[in-house]
Amino acid sequence: MFSKILIANRGEIACRIIRACKGLGIRTVAIYSEADRESLHVKQADEAVCVGPPPNDQSYLDMPNVLMAAVITGADAVHPGYGYFSERENFADALEAIGIKFIGPPVEAIAQMGDKARAREAAMEAGVPVVPGSEGVVRTESEALEIAEAIGYPVLIKAAAGGGGRGIRKATNPENLVSQMQTARQEAEASFGSGAVYIEKLIENPRHVEVQIIADAYGSCVHLGERECSVQNLRHQKMIEEAPFALLSPEKRQEIGEAAVRIARQVGYVNAGTVEFLMDAEGNYYFIEMNTRLQVEHPVTEQVTGIDIVRTQIEVAAGKELPFTQEDITWTGHAIEARITAEDPDRNFAPSCGKITEWNPPKGEPIRLESHLYRGFEVSPFYDPMIAKLIVTAHDRVAAVELLSRALDEFRIEGIKTNIPFLKHLVQTEEYVKGDVHTQTVAQMMQPAEAHAR
Ligand code: ADP
Repeated sequence: MFSKILIANRGEIACRIIRACKGLGIRTVAIYSEADRESLHVKQADEAVCVGPPPNDQSYLDMPNVLMAAVITGADAVHPGYGYFSERENFADALEAIGIKFIGPPVEAIAQMGDKARAREAAMEAGVPVVPGSEGVVRTESEALEIAEAIGYPVLIKAAAGGGGRGIRKATNPENLVSQMQTARQEAEASFGSGAVYIEKLIENPRHVEVQIIADAYGSCVHLGERECSVQNLRHQKMIEEAPFALLSPEKRQEIGEAAVRIARQVGYVNAGTVEFLMDAEGNYYFIEMNTRLQVEHPVTEQVTGIDIVRTQIEVAAGKELPFTQEDITWTGHAIEARITAEDPDRNFAPSCGKITEWNPPKGEPIRLESHLYRGFEVSPFYDPMIAKLIVTAHDRVAAVELLSRALDEFRIEGIKTNIPFLKHLVQTEEYVKGDVHTQTVAQMMQPAEAHAR
């Protein structure tokens, strides 16, 4: 087992990983920017190294600084969390080159699945349906027009290197296909350093259903079931995630789980990963991408399976065999996660920063809170607006929705604006209570308000 792990991240996920390390008796190193000096992950770790000024590219994303922090503290492994370096194969590669273990999949699997056009090919080779679209990257306008004509409008133009809901543009006819392709390319170039794009048919009002998998280095690969993540904001970012997907039949659960495992095996996957699908109203599912890292919403799977995914990631990276087989995995109850963000719903979800003057989260046994906040903490404009994850677990979905509603109602945060009022409203709508949601539900709910504003 490792003796010291550096956590190359900040916020709630750094705290979550430190907790898993403590459970395994592993010492921890936090990294932090000058803006995060007083952050909880810094206080919780055994050691902490400042890696630079507040902007991400000068600290958390400054690769030489982060690598140096691992070297000088004598860490024998690095956990990247999510975001930041978690899906950068050159970071994993650089670590391996200096003899430090990257807690994540093999470099080649990151590279292959990080290119979403190549990932589609891997899914097809594994016999898993993909959304109809281009075979790989689309280079010319005439090629794009030909493909869109063949699959039918509307289509989405997506950045091959995309992520976080960025670099996705919709085209409804040949005229706007050409202009949207140019915009998508520019956006992709600016955000991801690569203007490569591919085309997919737009699935109307789909559900987002994803499968958590975990594999060891000895050929064992297990799925931990699905999560339903259709409640997304206008930028395709998830707001609420659930496990299991209450309306999925046991047969479909097994089928989609096995499809995810086949894709993971196809690319020689080791460690934890998530295979994402879109599901249409008829229950047809289509692979969209694989996230080769720990997912923000991993706790809902932990709640219903009883498996500590972060602990298992560390064990697998240390060369242990998976401590369970597929037959051992069972699912009990229903878990829901709500992402609490420092965004003002009354100002079009603009980021809200400042000092936390009141911090009083809901308490009680089935409530799990993942957060790095405390009273007096300064929420900085430099980082992702997610400040907490509120996770509730109950015997079934109806009880879980009720508990979530109560927990949101009890949550007191002062000093900044949060999305809690919006979430409170959302989880009481008829659609959400019935589980009758799709990826456009939030957008449709917001439409009347926008029209009114105009
Ligand atoms: P990212 O990597 O940026 O998260 P994804 O490919 O995972 O991008 O897609 C994010 C979200 O965008 C999906 O959950 C879904 O809401 C929407 N989306 C992506 N592809 C399609 C599609 N072909 N049809 C309809 N919606 C889509």
